[in-house]
Amino acid sequence: MQCSISECKLKAIQIVSVGFKEKRNLCKLHYDLFKNKDTVHAPSFSAASKLYYLRI
Ligand SMILES: [Zn+2]
Repeated sequence: MQCSISECKLKAIQIVSVGFKEKRNLCKLHYDLFKNKDTVHAPSFSAASKLYYLRI
């Protein structure tokens, strides 16, 4: 099982729920990011999105 984040090639260690029915497989790195951000918008992990968050 591979991480659902598009650029990521790591092995997923955790499945998280996104929205009502959607699920994402996350590697350790992205799972940590997901927890730390405390958000349900898991798909927004790209570099562009990180910059976007910083500018808000
Ligand atoms: Zn990942």
